Amino acid sequence: MFEKILFPTDFSDVSKKGLRFVKQLREAGSAEIVLLHVIDQSNLDVLSTINTAPDYLTIEKEFMSRASEELVVMEKELKELGYNVTVRIEKGLPLREILRVAQEEKPSVIVIGSHGKSNIQEMLLGSVSEKVVRKALFPVLVVKR
Ligand code: ATP
Ligand code: MN
Repeated sequence: MFEKILFPTDFSDVSKKGLRFVKQLREAGSAEIVLLHVIDQSNLDVLSTINTAPDYLTIEKEFMSRASEELVVMEKELKELGYNVTVRIEKGLPLREILRVAQEEKPSVIVIGSHGKSNIQEMLLGSVSEKVVRKALFPVLVVKR
Protein backbone atom coordinates (compact mmCIF):
# COMPACT_ATOMS: atom_id res chain seq x y z
CA MET A 1 0.00 0.00 0.00
CA PHE A 2 2.87 2.35 0.85
CA GLU A 3 5.25 0.70 -1.62
CA LYS A 4 6.81 3.91 -2.92
CA ILE A 5 7.22 6.95 -0.67
CA LEU A 6 7.98 10.52 -1.70
CA PHE A 7 9.59 12.22 1.28
CA PRO A 8 10.17 15.97 0.84
CA THR A 9 12.43 17.28 3.59
CA ASP A 10 13.61 20.70 4.73
CA PHE A 11 15.87 19.12 7.42
CA SER A 12 13.80 20.71 10.20
CA ASP A 13 13.10 18.97 13.52
CA VAL A 14 9.57 18.12 12.37
CA SER A 15 10.96 16.65 9.20
CA LYS A 16 13.42 14.57 11.26
CA LYS A 17 10.39 13.15 13.04
CA GLY A 18 8.97 12.35 9.61
CA LEU A 19 12.14 10.45 8.80
CA ARG A 20 11.70 8.28 11.88
CA PHE A 21 8.16 7.53 10.74
CA VAL A 22 9.31 6.67 7.22
CA LYS A 23 11.83 4.24 8.68
CA GLN A 24 9.01 2.47 10.51
CA LEU A 25 7.04 2.17 7.30
CA ARG A 26 9.69 -0.28 6.06
CA GLU A 27 8.05 -2.88 8.28
CA ALA A 28 4.68 -2.05 6.75
CA GLY A 29 5.95 -3.09 3.33
CA SER A 30 7.44 0.14 1.96
CA ALA A 31 10.33 -0.64 -0.36
CA GLU A 32 11.23 2.48 -2.28
CA ILE A 33 11.77 6.06 -1.23
CA VAL A 34 12.46 9.27 -3.07
CA LEU A 35 14.19 11.81 -0.81
CA LEU A 36 13.57 15.33 -2.06
CA HIS A 37 14.99 18.64 -0.95
CA VAL A 38 14.04 21.86 -2.72
CA ILE A 39 16.47 24.73 -2.59
CA ASP A 40 14.11 27.64 -2.13
CA GLN A 41 14.68 30.06 -4.98
CA SER A 42 13.26 32.96 -2.95
CA ASN A 43 15.89 32.46 -0.21
CA LEU A 44 18.59 32.61 -2.87
CA ASP A 45 17.07 35.76 -4.36
CA VAL A 46 16.88 37.52 -0.99
CA LEU A 47 20.39 36.55 0.04
CA SER A 48 21.92 37.69 -3.19
CA THR A 49 20.49 41.20 -2.78
CA ILE A 50 22.62 41.67 0.35
CA ASN A 51 25.73 43.57 -0.70
CA THR A 52 28.12 41.83 1.61
CA ALA A 53 26.89 38.36 0.71
CA PRO A 54 28.88 36.21 -1.72
CA ASP A 55 27.60 36.07 -5.30
CA TYR A 56 24.60 34.08 -6.36
CA LEU A 57 26.48 31.05 -7.68
CA THR A 58 28.58 30.76 -4.52
CA ILE A 59 25.48 30.86 -2.32
CA GLU A 60 23.74 28.31 -4.52
CA LYS A 61 26.75 25.97 -4.36
CA GLU A 62 26.85 26.31 -0.57
CA PHE A 63 23.12 25.46 -0.32
CA MET A 64 23.65 22.49 -2.64
CA SER A 65 26.55 21.06 -0.70
CA ARG A 66 24.81 21.48 2.66
CA ALA A 67 21.71 19.76 1.30
CA SER A 68 23.66 16.87 -0.15
CA GLU A 69 25.57 16.37 3.12
CA GLU A 70 22.27 15.97 4.96
CA LEU A 71 20.76 13.78 2.26
CA VAL A 72 23.76 11.45 2.11
CA VAL A 73 23.32 10.62 5.79
CA MET A 74 19.59 10.02 5.39
CA GLU A 75 20.19 7.92 2.29
CA LYS A 76 22.69 5.71 4.10
CA GLU A 77 20.36 5.12 7.06
CA LEU A 78 17.47 4.22 4.77
CA LYS A 79 19.60 1.91 2.63
CA GLU A 80 20.70 0.07 5.75
CA LEU A 81 17.04 -0.72 6.36
CA GLY A 82 16.81 -2.21 2.89
CA TYR A 83 15.16 0.72 1.14
CA ASN A 84 15.76 1.40 -2.50
CA VAL A 85 16.62 5.14 -2.32
CA THR A 86 16.61 7.93 -4.89
CA VAL A 87 17.95 11.34 -3.85
CA ARG A 88 16.76 14.48 -5.60
CA ILE A 89 17.75 18.09 -5.07
CA GLU A 90 15.69 20.60 -7.03
CA LYS A 91 15.75 24.37 -7.14
CA GLY A 92 12.63 26.55 -7.26
CA LEU A 93 9.47 27.04 -5.24
CA PRO A 94 9.17 24.17 -2.74
CA LEU A 95 5.45 23.61 -3.38
CA ARG A 96 5.79 23.61 -7.15
CA GLU A 97 8.82 21.32 -7.15
CA ILE A 98 7.21 18.86 -4.73
CA LEU A 99 4.11 18.64 -6.95
CA ARG A 100 6.22 18.34 -10.09
CA VAL A 101 8.39 15.55 -8.65
CA ALA A 102 5.24 13.77 -7.43
CA GLN A 103 3.88 13.80 -10.99
CA GLU A 104 7.15 12.33 -12.24
CA GLU A 105 7.69 9.75 -9.52
CA LYS A 106 4.06 8.68 -8.99
CA PRO A 107 4.50 7.67 -5.32
CA SER A 108 1.94 5.57 -3.42
CA VAL A 109 2.13 8.17 -0.65
CA ILE A 110 3.74 11.53 0.07
CA VAL A 111 4.99 11.75 3.66
CA ILE A 112 5.39 15.36 4.79
CA GLY A 113 5.89 17.19 8.10
CA SER A 114 2.96 19.25 9.41
CA HIS A 115 5.46 22.06 9.91
CA GLY A 116 9.00 22.84 8.91
CA LYS A 117 11.75 25.33 9.69
CA SER A 118 9.38 28.17 10.72
CA ASN A 119 7.24 25.93 12.95
CA ILE A 120 4.91 28.74 14.07
CA GLN A 121 2.89 27.80 17.14
CA GLU A 122 -0.51 29.12 15.94
CA MET A 123 -0.40 27.51 12.51
CA LEU A 124 -2.32 24.27 11.98
CA LEU A 125 -0.05 23.48 9.04
CA GLY A 126 2.92 25.16 7.37
CA SER A 127 2.27 26.83 4.02
CA VAL A 128 4.04 24.10 2.04
CA SER A 129 2.33 21.19 3.76
CA GLU A 130 -1.06 22.89 3.57
CA LYS A 131 -0.80 23.38 -0.17
CA VAL A 132 0.61 19.90 -0.77
CA VAL A 133 -2.42 18.43 1.05
CA ARG A 134 -4.68 20.68 -1.02
CA LYS A 135 -3.13 20.10 -4.42
CA ALA A 136 -1.37 16.76 -4.60
CA LEU A 137 -2.98 14.07 -6.72
CA PHE A 138 -1.54 11.37 -4.44
CA PRO A 139 -2.37 10.43 -0.85
CA VAL A 140 -0.55 12.62 1.67
CA LEU A 141 0.45 11.45 5.11
CA VAL A 142 1.13 14.37 7.46
CA VAL A 143 3.50 13.69 10.36
CA LYS A 144 2.55 15.98 13.23
CA ARG A 145 5.15 17.99 15.15
P1 ATP B 1 6.33 28.20 6.44
O1 ATP B 1 7.38 27.71 5.50
O2 ATP B 1 4.99 28.35 5.79
O3 ATP B 1 6.75 29.42 7.17
P2 ATP B 1 6.95 25.86 8.07
O4 ATP B 1 8.38 26.03 7.64
O5 ATP B 1 6.70 25.63 9.53
O6 ATP B 1 6.07 27.08 7.59
P3 ATP B 1 6.43 24.13 5.80
O7 ATP B 1 7.48 24.91 5.07
O8 ATP B 1 5.06 24.05 5.22
O9 ATP B 1 6.28 24.63 7.32
O10 ATP B 1 7.03 22.67 5.99
C1 ATP B 1 6.20 21.52 6.14
C2 ATP B 1 6.87 20.32 5.51
O11 ATP B 1 6.99 20.57 4.11
C3 ATP B 1 8.30 20.03 5.99
O12 ATP B 1 8.33 19.26 7.19
C4 ATP B 1 8.83 19.27 4.80
O13 ATP B 1 8.32 17.94 4.81
C5 ATP B 1 8.18 20.00 3.61
N1 ATP B 1 9.05 21.06 3.08
C6 ATP B 1 9.04 22.38 3.40
N2 ATP B 1 9.99 23.05 2.72
C7 ATP B 1 10.64 22.13 1.95
C8 ATP B 1 11.73 22.17 1.02
N3 ATP B 1 12.38 23.32 0.76
N4 ATP B 1 12.10 21.03 0.40
C9 ATP B 1 11.47 19.89 0.67
N5 ATP B 1 10.46 19.76 1.54
C10 ATP B 1 10.03 20.86 2.17
MN1 MN C 1 8.99 26.30 5.59
